[in-house]
Amino acid sequence: MRTFTAPQLVIASHNRGKIPEIADLLAPFGLSISSAADHNVPEPEETEETYIGNAKLKALHTARITGLPALADDSGLSVTALGGRPGVYSARYATRNGQRDFTYGMERLMAELDPFTDKSAQFVCVLALAWPDGHVETFEGKVEGTLALPLRGNKGFGYDPIFTPHGHSLTFAEMAPEKKHAMSHRADAFKQLVHGCFQ
Ligand code: IMP
Repeated sequence: MRTFTAPQLVIASHNRGKIPEIADLLAPFGLSISSAADHNVPEPEETEETYIGNAKLKALHTARITGLPALADDSGLSVTALGGRPGVYSARYATRNGQRDFTYGMERLMAELDPFTDKSAQFVCVLALAWPDGHVETFEGKVEGTLALPLRGNKGFGYDPIFTPHGHSLTFAEMAPEKKHAMSHRADAFKQLVHGCFQ
């Protein structure tokens, strides 16, 4: 495992919601953090079929263009009864007429699931940290839960209203954000990243 010693890190994401969240998580390490957009890096097409493949592709693309280490994430919701779908296609699954529409995505999931089938699901987040010499470290975070039907809550984003983590009665969209962020797939992946490369 390679230790991170550079003074700068580029967040290889074009999702403006993720940049401050990631910058906050890495604040204790005193790095200078910028985003791919700050360096005019175009967004690459996510052509891989796995979370790890897409996270690596995004991190390496930004590291190569900027000459700086880059951190990317790829995440999604994997439903057991659907063989792990929508998975890496979670954002695209919730797209109608070219627009993201998560209510539509969750309604699609409900329509696909027989009322009596297994409702277990997991959120997955893979983080990839790439160096300009092509070295990459990856970390996979998960949170197990069940699909809550009907949808509940209006906090959070994406598929949060349909997901109840194991051991809890509230969906991610009903929880205070700090509570979700302490137990999420992203938090799990970040703990592993910090343990592996920043300590
Ligand atoms: P990407 O990682 O930006 O390619 O997109 C992942 C997609 O997975 C998001 O657009 C959401 O649909 C979904 N997703 C990932 N993490 C979460 C989460 O914490 N809550 C709800 N939906 C999520």
